Amino acid sequence: MRQIAIIGAGASGLFLSRLLREHSDVEIHLFDRCKQVGTKLRASGGGKANIFNTSVTPDCYNHPDFAAQILSQVTPERLGQTFDSFGLEMCADEEGRVYPLSEFSQTVVDVLWNPEHPRIHPVMEYEITHVWHEDGRWHLNNYPTAFDTLVLASGTPANMIPKNRKLYNSYLSDLQLDIHPWTPSLVGFKIKDYPTSLAGCRVKAVASLYQNNHLIHSEFGEITFKDDGISGIVILNLSAYYNRLDDKQNCRIALNFLYSRDTFDVAAHLQRHGSLQGVLHPKLHALYARQPFDIRNMELIIEEPYDLTFAQVCHGGIDVKEVDAHLAIKKHPSLYAMGEILDMDGVCGGYNLFFAFATAIIVAQSILGQND
Ligand SMILES: Cc1cc2nc3c(=O)[nH]c(=O)nc-3n(C[C@H](O)[C@H](O)[C@H](O)COP(=O)(O)OP(=O)(O)OC[C@H]3O[C@@H](n4cnc5c(N)ncnc54)[C@H](O)[C@@H]3O)c2cc1C
Repeated sequence: MRQIAIIGAGASGLFLSRLLREHSDVEIHLFDRCKQVGTKLRASGGGKANIFNTSVTPDCYNHPDFAAQILSQVTPERLGQTFDSFGLEMCADEEGRVYPLSEFSQTVVDVLWNPEHPRIHPVMEYEITHVWHEDGRWHLNNYPTAFDTLVLASGTPANMIPKNRKLYNSYLSDLQLDIHPWTPSLVGFKIKDYPTSLAGCRVKAVASLYQNNHLIHSEFGEITFKDDGISGIVILNLSAYYNRLDDKQNCRIALNFLYSRDTFDVAAHLQRHGSLQGVLHPKLHALYARQPFDIRNMELIIEEPYDLTFAQVCHGGIDVKEVDAHLAIKKHPSLYAMGEILDMDGVCGGYNLFFAFATAIIVAQSILGQND
């Protein structure tokens, strides 16, 4: 019987354990520092879990070439078929975002997880702090079993409060891998000289990220004005593109509140009605009345992204050059890395869970000797 250890019972770890448990020659030990499995999976999509997108493209990720390599092995269709084989009914919205039909993330955890399964050994509330390879097997802390294969699936500290982040993934230093520092992604921005009177306002706009005068990315969606900055899905997506910049100086966001009215004449409206009261959200109108601004191009200078506590994912992690096409660490073929612990992050819309599940399929194939 081959002994497999998976560090992390999150989205990718649970999916891998579900794929492997059908095979009678493996025994799976699934370790997690938390009491319950699938903490982030359950929190995903506001508790609904947007598990993938029907149209995943490489440019949704920070390393498009690596994403293309993953997509050449696992397509959204294939992932959907795999979930279907687990008995999960799904539905997609008009933007291709796929959810469990129950619209409840726990349903996804339930089809993946069976702690009573004879080949699964859950080891909960057990934090791995040391790993080493000796006599051809992997050892973890002082755990009594030694393993033929070790899978790193312990994610990132995104969305965690600072005290829980302390020493996160400290065991990685034992492996001497090239690791990029974690920075928050899919997160809002603190804004310089922020107009605090807008706090609480939610409006739709086209949001464009510029560095100096160069347009980096532009998207339409709802913006939420917070106490000291802005958020909302469209802003979270801009943060993913912001993270891809080596130098982050002189970045700003321009908001166009008249996205649907190209020919609307602001000056003529003001001349006729004396104000923009009938045009803008009341808080925007009040600000305009005090301090007029270009409502097609409201400029907000980025101070910094919000802290990791507010991020959905992290930019950074194990350099993708450390792994081969089957996600085995090149210098340790019996060691794999999958999911967010790899330096891969995608935009909002099911791309990050797709990556977690797709990489688990690739690792399962490799462990079972079923590489295409
Ligand atoms: C609020 C929120 C909403 C999101 N919504 C979506 C969405 O709708 N769609 C989408 O695609 N993505 C979404 N994401 C992102 C998505 O949840 C993650 O990308 C995904 O869960 C990553 O899966 P993973 O298996 O790599 O890591 P995780 O799911 O984070 O699992 C890692 C596990 O490892 C455990 N662990 C860590 N270190 C150790 C250790 N040393 N020893 C033992 N155990 C350890 C952790 O406790 C955790 O359970 C969201 C994220 C957040 C925070």
